[in-house]
Formats: sequence, C-alpha cells, structure tokens
Amino acid sequence: MCRREPLSCIIPPHMLRAMAKSSDSDVRRAALSTLVASARIRGQREIVGRVRTAVLSNAPGRKHRSIYNAAHEMMSEWELPGTLVRDEGQPPSSDPTINEAYDGLGATYDYFAEVFNRNSIDDRGMRLVATVHFGTSFNNAFWNGKQMVFGDGNDIIFAGFTRSLDVIGHELTHGVTEFTSNPEYHKQPGALNESFSDVFGSLVKQYTRKQDAASADWLIGAELLAPGIGGVALRSLKDPGSAYDDPRLGGRDPQPKHMSAFVRLPDDEWNDWGGVHINSGIPNHAFYLVATQLGGNAWEDAGIIWYDSLLQLWRTAQFQDCANITAQVAAARFGTESAQHQAVKTAWARVGVPVAAPSPPRRRDRKPALAEGNGRVLKRQLERLGEELQKTIVALG
Ligand SMILES: [Zn+2]
Repeated sequence: MCRREPLSCIIPPHMLRAMAKSSDSDVRRAALSTLVASARIRGQREIVGRVRTAVLSNAPGRKHRSIYNAAHEMMSEWELPGTLVRDEGQPPSSDPTINEAYDGLGATYDYFAEVFNRNSIDDRGMRLVATVHFGTSFNNAFWNGKQMVFGDGNDIIFAGFTRSLDVIGHELTHGVTEFTSNPEYHKQPGALNESFSDVFGSLVKQYTRKQDAASADWLIGAELLAPGIGGVALRSLKDPGSAYDDPRLGGRDPQPKHMSAFVRLPDDEWNDWGGVHINSGIPNHAFYLVATQLGGNAWEDAGIIWYDSLLQLWRTAQFQDCANITAQVAAARFGTESAQHQAVKTAWARVGVPVAAPSPPRRRDRKPALAEGNGRVLKRQLERLGEELQKTIVALG
C-alpha cells in the first residue's frame, strides 16, 4: 500500500462527482475544475511530502495568524500561500472573507489553547496560515499538511467556505490529528480521522458561541449550502444520514449512525478511501450521545475524553479501539462506573460498537506518531537529551 499524504477536503468526492453530472453547466464546470484542481494539488503534496519548515514555527505561547490571498488563481503547492493580506494584530480588512478566515483560525487556536493548553496545531506555536479566494468557483476547503486553503464556492451549491466556523475547526483539527495519533487516512482509521475533525470542529463552534450540548446544532458546514439546496448542512452528528437530500449532492446524506449500516467501499481515492467521510457518522454519533447524556458543555468532560483519546490512539486504530480507549480514559479521569465512564459505554453500545476490555497500546505503531508529532513528548525527549549532554560536558570538564 502506498503511503498516503491526504489532502483533507471538507467536500468528499461523492458529492463532487454528483455535481459533475449535473444538468446545470455552471455546476458541472465548477465541480470538474474542483476535482481536477484537488487531484493536481494532491499529486503535488505527494511530491512535496511532509515538509515542515522552520518558517512555520513560532515562539511558544503566541498566537500568530497569517491570511493570504490567491486572488482567484488556482495556485500550485509551490505557489501557495499567495499575497499576505492580514497578519496577526493587523486591523480588519474590507474583505469579509479575509476576516472570517482570521477570526476562525483565532477561535480554533483559542479553543485548543484554553481548554487543552495546546499551543497551536503542533503544540509548539506553529503559525496558522490560510489562503482565501483560491481558484475560481472552487468548491472546497482543505488542509494540505502546512496550511488551510479556502475556495469561494459558486453560490449555486456551495457558498464561500470561510463562512462556517466548524469547517475551519474541522480542517485545522486535521493538523492536530496529524501531529498526534494520526490515524491512517483510509477505512476505519480514516473515518476516525474524519470524525475527530467533525467533533472538534463542532466543539470550536460551541465553545466560541458558548452553546451547551442541548442548544448546539451539531451540524458541520450549515453555512455552506447555497439557498435552494435541499438540506441543512454537510453532516450531522446528532442524526447522521439526515443532513441533506438533493440530487445535486448525489441524493441523500449517506452517513450511517450504527455499525450495522457500515458502508463497505473500495480503498481508493475515487471511493473516498473506503468512505472515510461516510462511516465517520458512527463515531460522530457516539460522541454526540456521550455529550448529550452528560449534558452541560460538550467541550468539558466529553471533549476532554475525546482529546485525551486522540493523543493515545495510533495509526491503525479501528472503531473498537476508539471505543475501548475512550472508555479507558473516562474511567481513569473520572472513575470506574462514574457518570462519564457509563455515558461512554452506553454511547458506543448504541452505535453498535460495545466497549471491550481495554486495548493494549500498540507501541510499534505509536512510536513514530509520538516522535513525529506530539510536541510535549518531543519536548520532554529533547530536555532529557539536553540534560544528558550537559552531564557529559561536565564530566569531560
Ligand atoms: Zn476532513
């Protein structure tokens, strides 16, 4: 199996393919250009690989957002990010798209910093970079491993992609996931990867707007659907499978909310790597059930259990592993048979993945992800190395 460098797009291929078959030539043209551009960028990403330059690093403890403008050009990976239009601390622009991106990045940074004491995506103060006005009628938003990119949509099916705070939170969470347990982007690990982005995308919105679990809409991308499209959002954590029903989006929302309806698809790009945006409905709904059963603010106990689990999972984690780890985390943090532990067990049972005995961590899988990404672990390792070096220097005297 080839090593995938996923382009984490908010609009899955099954939607774009449906749009490409539309009888409306504008919709068809916009969908095809989005598909072609995404494939091109994906190819470039495979070549560029995981380049994380020092330029993206920042002094710890500081929020640094930089918004760039592609001015409707379909920029290559090498041409991005474009022209800098608003840097951290600069006054608002007259262009609302630039301000929406700036504010959305800030809200996501603040959520992870204030709730989890996480310093940006890499926990080392990585600068948050976004490019707006990417391409013409580009119907997508994505995280390319280094930055966010937003299209403007074509206003027929999708409106501008900076409008939705949970979409911005979703895409940046792909960055956090990549720097932590980084489940492989295919089949069940891929659906978990997508689900963590939906969960934290929704939590960024709930935290920013101070909505508790009962009053939150639990939708992803509600602001993206253009008027007249039959649906309320791209996905629903509350009721997966109910977000939309429109032939221009390929019919009904295909997300299952129970393991018995798990959708088996080929493990290739055309089929969204085994339907990672489809089967994510199952873990999404499990989180929703935990949060609503506990009540209050979802970013508190439920969100903390999910974040700790994201740090503990591994590359090949399955739904069952996620169920087991979240239950283990809930028991360790709040006590065995605490309300939190029980809520987690009940939720996973209701989506058809009952919690089993805790999975032993797969050290072989976990090591690379930790060494590669988890800032805190890396920091500790470096400190230890520094201490040893210091001792050696003293000994050499
Ligand atoms: Zn995603």
